[in-house]
Amino acid sequence: MSDNAPIILWFRRDLRMADHPALHAAVSSRRPVIPVFLRDDLVDRLGAAPKFRLGLGLERFAAELQDAGSRLVLRAGAALPVLRALAAETGAAAVWWTRAYDADSVARDKEVKAALREDGMEARSFGGHLMFEPWTVETGQGSFYKVYTPFWRAVSGRDVDAPHPAPGRVPAPDAWPESESLSDWELGRAMRRGAEVVARFARVGEAAARDRLAQFMDGIVAGYDDSRDLPAEDGTSALSENLSLGEIGPHQCWHAAIRAREEGKPGAETFMKELVWREFAYHLLHHTPRLATSNWREEWDAFPWNEDEDDPRVTAWRRGRTGIPFVDAGQREMYVTGRMHNRARMVVASYLTKHLLTHWKIGMRWFEEHLIDWDPASNAMGWQWSAGSGPDATPYFRVFNPLTQAKRFDPDGAYLRRWIAEGQDDPPADALAYFDAVPRSWALSPDDDYPDPVVDASEGRKIALEAYENKDF
Ligand code: FAD
Repeated sequence: MSDNAPIILWFRRDLRMADHPALHAAVSSRRPVIPVFLRDDLVDRLGAAPKFRLGLGLERFAAELQDAGSRLVLRAGAALPVLRALAAETGAAAVWWTRAYDADSVARDKEVKAALREDGMEARSFGGHLMFEPWTVETGQGSFYKVYTPFWRAVSGRDVDAPHPAPGRVPAPDAWPESESLSDWELGRAMRRGAEVVARFARVGEAAARDRLAQFMDGIVAGYDDSRDLPAEDGTSALSENLSLGEIGPHQCWHAAIRAREEGKPGAETFMKELVWREFAYHLLHHTPRLATSNWREEWDAFPWNEDEDDPRVTAWRRGRTGIPFVDAGQREMYVTGRMHNRARMVVASYLTKHLLTHWKIGMRWFEEHLIDWDPASNAMGWQWSAGSGPDATPYFRVFNPLTQAKRFDPDGAYLRRWIAEGQDDPPADALAYFDAVPRSWALSPDDDYPDPVVDASEGRKIALEAYENKDF
């Protein structure tokens, strides 16, 4: 094999040019680079919204590669045979990629790595998705962290590598292998009419993410300590969809926050803490993959969860028709924008798991289907935190009252008015957009009466405590 044999760079959730250790190493090697994206069964199994958002991201990323004199080769099929075929077609001697941490990706990547190495190829994984590899953060007892605050203390003082700059050019091979067509893949198909609505809100691609980070650090971060809790305000970074697909790297965000902290901007450290929540979620997922599949605290298996997917109250929750405005506003925000404010996520999740005593997995799957910022670790951790079954979870008896939450975090009702059309003489465009995004079969109209609560806001605590006391721990 020649020293100049191409490197196949297998892109997954790392659709960026800057802050990309594998791309940086490949370009530095001066060998030709063949960027590839594979539509394997893990991609096919994505929920409707994340798959749709992936399609938007791939389109933009392919254009960025084109500007750098390269291409994005698209192939569908199981990873190993597709990579082997590509290597045979192109004479590539190496396959490199950025590590993923969810159980299915890890199993696939291990198999691919071992098999390619047996073939005599150089199969190599790089960091980049996280700042702190999960196995590098250990407690004094040599174990992993189960609680966030000591995890933060363990990592916050560490040096984080400065992000690599984007390469100006990516060396091309002598001949390009054939690529499938992105439009033929129809990654947005399951979104149906919702695609057009959500597309208006998506911030797609590396350049847009970088601009947003700069905008956030120039202004919003100074008030972030307070504004991050107010769902009616543009008070957070809104970078989760970009971090989820790797359109921006955590190192870039971290270093920008360090600069803002040095400039004395008050919210900068709080923002760093939020980035570390993301790291913590991956730390937990890596050490306990069951975070995404079953109660992290096994004693919660005995809890009398409602697991009836067809329960009409659960249907009302899904459709933003519980009669509890804060809960319904959150669900509608997600349907229209593909994102939901963190405060609303907590209230919506609490209502499902405490007021409706419904299994967090039902909620987790609903989010997995509808969030364009879906993240396997943060979604699972968020749900188990809300339900009380997670490692560092809110105590079960701490039940959010959605009315009190609305009064506190949306005091003048702006968030509720933005999302709930029923009862308003002249509803805003976002509230109406909900009715264009949801399936027609739901037969919802802004002229409908707003429903009575399926379970009263103040009932949650009593219901949850009764169930909690009766369960057999
Ligand atoms: P900012 O406030 O600007 O924070 C910056 C970044 O820090 C975020 O983009 C995110 O990457 C990270 N972050 C912030 N809060 C958290 C948190 N609580 N947990 C983990 N990381 C965090 N986040 C996702 O990215 N994808 C999900 O699928 C997801 N599902 C969730 C489900 C539930 C039930 C709950 C309670 C939370 C979930 N979160 C999820 C976490 C959080 O709600 C979002 O990260 C946040 O709302 C994103 O908005 P932002 O980018 O403006 O955040």
